[in-house]
Amino acid sequence: MECVQLDRGDAGFIRLVEEESGQKLSRCYQCGNCSAGCPMSFAYDYPVSRIMRLIQLGQKKTVLSSRAVWMCASCEACSTHCPNDIEVARVLDVCRHLSRREGYAGVRGARIFTDAFLQSVRWYGRSHELGLMAVYKMRSLRLLDDVELAPGMLLKGKLPLLPHRIKGRDEVAGIFRRYAEGRGRKK
Ligand code: SF4
Ligand code: SF4
Repeated sequence: MECVQLDRGDAGFIRLVEEESGQKLSRCYQCGNCSAGCPMSFAYDYPVSRIMRLIQLGQKKTVLSSRAVWMCASCEACSTHCPNDIEVARVLDVCRHLSRREGYAGVRGARIFTDAFLQSVRWYGRSHELGLMAVYKMRSLRLLDDVELAPGMLLKGKLPLLPHRIKGRDEVAGIFRRYAEGRGRKK
């Protein structure tokens, strides 16, 4: 676990996370239940309960540049285990969005991967793994990463060559549109 150098704290950051997540962060009393049930703790720099404390202290830079907000699997085990009914997963989700919006993304390539994934879902209504990989590799210049896995996956039909367009992609496109409109109203 990493040591934290605390700064003065950013009260605006605390308010923003509370507003966007709809959660009252001061209700967290650091029982640690969320961290105990988190299946991704092994990959985090700070356990999720520590992230909650850092947000309470307004440590914007540390939180938004942490690996934890990007490695979270959104499984919601933390929300389920919280004795104070805090939607902890929602808080992590908001931090991930803020990290992306404000250019803090703490995991190399995370922003590029997220953008490529969202573009694929916007176009086809679901992700097209081969196209997603191609866009990600081109933009991140990580051309040879995991390339040895591709032949086996192609042979097993796990990487369809052509995208599958779902029937409800207009509805999916509507979600992206409403999100963009909502963000436009908040600016
Ligand atoms: S939602 Fe994220 S932080 Fe919460 S338990 Fe799942 S992986 Fe951990
Ligand atoms: S389970 Fe809830 S109260 Fe306990 S540390 Fe996590 S967020 Fe805070």
